[in-house]
Amino acid sequence: MTGSTEPGGQATHAGIVRIQSWQVRGMRQRCPARFAVDVRPAVAHAKAGADVGRTRSASALSALHAVLDLIEFDQLSGDAAIRRWTEKSDPDPTLARWAAQAVRAIQEAEPKIAATRPDTPVLEPVSRSWGRQRLNAEDVYEEAVVGRRYEADGIRELRLLSTNSVAGAARERTDDAEIAFLVGVTAGARPILGGRWDHQRRFSLGRFTAPERIRVVEVGCADGSIDVRFDGSPAEALRLYEDEAAGPLAELLADDSYRPGYDCAKCLLVESCPGVPSVPGLLGVTGDTRRTWSVTSGREHQKCPDRYRFGEMFLPRERAAEDSDGTRRGRAVHSWIAQRHDRRPIQACRASDVPASSETWSAGWAGRDGIEARLGVQMIGDHALVCPLAGLAGDTVRTEHLVVAFDPVANAVIVAKTDLLYRDDHGWVLREIKTARSPETGDLLTKYPQLALAVLLSEAGVLAEEGAPLRVELEELTGSGPVLATLDVSSDAVLAAARRAVNRLAGPMFTMETSGPNPGKACADCGFVRWCPAARKTAA
Ligand code: SF4
Ligand code: SF4
Repeated sequence: MTGSTEPGGQATHAGIVRIQSWQVRGMRQRCPARFAVDVRPAVAHAKAGADVGRTRSASALSALHAVLDLIEFDQLSGDAAIRRWTEKSDPDPTLARWAAQAVRAIQEAEPKIAATRPDTPVLEPVSRSWGRQRLNAEDVYEEAVVGRRYEADGIRELRLLSTNSVAGAARERTDDAEIAFLVGVTAGARPILGGRWDHQRRFSLGRFTAPERIRVVEVGCADGSIDVRFDGSPAEALRLYEDEAAGPLAELLADDSYRPGYDCAKCLLVESCPGVPSVPGLLGVTGDTRRTWSVTSGREHQKCPDRYRFGEMFLPRERAAEDSDGTRRGRAVHSWIAQRHDRRPIQACRASDVPASSETWSAGWAGRDGIEARLGVQMIGDHALVCPLAGLAGDTVRTEHLVVAFDPVANAVIVAKTDLLYRDDHGWVLREIKTARSPETGDLLTKYPQLALAVLLSEAGVLAEEGAPLRVELEELTGSGPVLATLDVSSDAVLAAARRAVNRLAGPMFTMETSGPNPGKACADCGFVRWCPAARKTAA
């Protein structure tokens, strides 16, 4: 046994494996190496202690939970709870505005939830978290559910809050494996005693009271929508856990591979990870605080620093407001082509690989006049003329692949989402596929900073193979036909221009030359207008 018992204390245990429900989200995409650290609190604590520069920003949902605690456990009204929380924590006014609306939406959802269990209309909020524990000679295995907890008459109900809606086509949905984990753990859970969860001490659990019915309800804070995801007996809950969660979880725990991707952003291992190349000076900036940077986040910050910050807080954004007709068309074209590139065995795109009906294909994103839809179909057909997949086989094509690098000088994790990576006889090629009404005539690296970043990654030897550097291509699909360009990654002039383009985009976020709101033009396509006080002043 790796732990010990201190006199008068709870058993200490360096070998605790502690899995919280949010950690099993998207299990099949998770990085096993990071997961192994995240679920071992003692290891994560030691790593986090060394990693003093990590950023920690308030998230929308954690703020909302603080307000709901005041309502449910201090018996305050919604307005009084918002006032108390505001006095105590001095939150960002944008966050406070959203939280007040979210509380109203949750209160509207309450009778709808009660109507789904008319036999037991009133449940009591439960302050203690729910968890279960298995002890054996080698380790302590613990599972805990995260969500708002309610109980009465043998019913245990978990409510999962979403910042968006949980109804309709655009709803946000917790994945099935996470629901299975939640219900299985809830069925066998005891209250977790004590306050803060200690990284070295196993959970101290209260008495087990067998539940008779388990429920999981999603609640949309955008509109008070609800979705009952599970309502069944403990036996059904445990069976669902075994069927949907236990297998993938065991596989993830047994795996020790590195899978670079979005997980790298907040990973405690990133500085020394063998799966992530270290590229000092990639962004041309210095940084003390750990950040994640991408072309998208750089652009967001450039438009308005607060817009970027609100995204980091996971405030809900109105996506429709952010998209132009061209953006919607570009996304649809990309998605169509990516699906063709994902075919196995690999096939080059043909001119006939276009949507059978532009109306059906574009329903939901294009205007009634059909102009954008017809242009999109033409672009997809044009792509066949320059599709590079002919003759490629095996594991040589990756669509929408994430390339991750760490810049220790900037203290930043850089995430590049590539449109297409393929390997021919001479090595790997990164192709950016862009759509535009007419071909770009200006500086390509400034217009498309993804290309500039790709050039710098190539120079750093990322994805180089047997001495052959990564090649970088631009495919522009335009109203007047496709244009294919190969960038000369060995040219000093191209490299210098790429450095300037990346540095120009990254600089302001790192130097904090600009911060706060930038009301004006940027508000026109900002998804946070509804919450942002600065935007309202502009409109007035
Ligand atoms: S840095 Fe990325 S690849 Fe490496 S362990 Fe962390 S998540 Fe996995
Ligand atoms: S509404 Fe305007 S000022 Fe507010 S975050 Fe958006 S762009 Fe910035």
